[in-house]
Amino acid sequence: MALRKILTEEDPILRKKSKPVTDFGKRTADLMDDLADTMVKANGLGLASPQVGLLRRAVVIVRDEKIVELINPEIIASEGEETGLEGCLSVPGKSGYVCRPTKVTVKAQDRNGEWFELECEGMAARAACHELDHLDGILYIDKAEEVLDDSELYGDEDEEEEKESGEA
Ligand code: ZN
Repeated sequence: MALRKILTEEDPILRKKSKPVTDFGKRTADLMDDLADTMVKANGLGLASPQVGLLRRAVVIVRDEKIVELINPEIIASEGEETGLEGCLSVPGKSGYVCRPTKVTVKAQDRNGEWFELECEGMAARAACHELDHLDGILYIDKAEEVLDDSELYGDEDEEEEKESGEA
């Protein structure tokens, strides 16, 4: 397990489409461990493989305070919409208002290649949509109604934990 470097928005890799994961061996297991470790260390609610420089369709999200691994994920159903604040570990120091479904059902594979379906609501639905966008080279700033510097939103104090938006 290892922490990986998170790429930031100017990196062209973040604008590319990721390829499906076809290997369900040690390499993918290591990637999933590293994504989880890197996300936790950065206080994120989600992290996608291209954010650490690997164009593979694999993400981790936080749902009900647990880390869920989603490999080759697809949204197969969605409901409602809600505009809320979100941030991105690849766009540090900013947050934006983005409209997302309130509930999504994601179909994905686990690290052993087994397919499953997962319902996500609220922040987990937002994180799932945000991470899946990363796999297609889309950043939330492309979709946001408004993007603000954190200093405008939260003042200049250095109190990261008090941020209301999740970073993914
Ligand atoms: Zn992101």
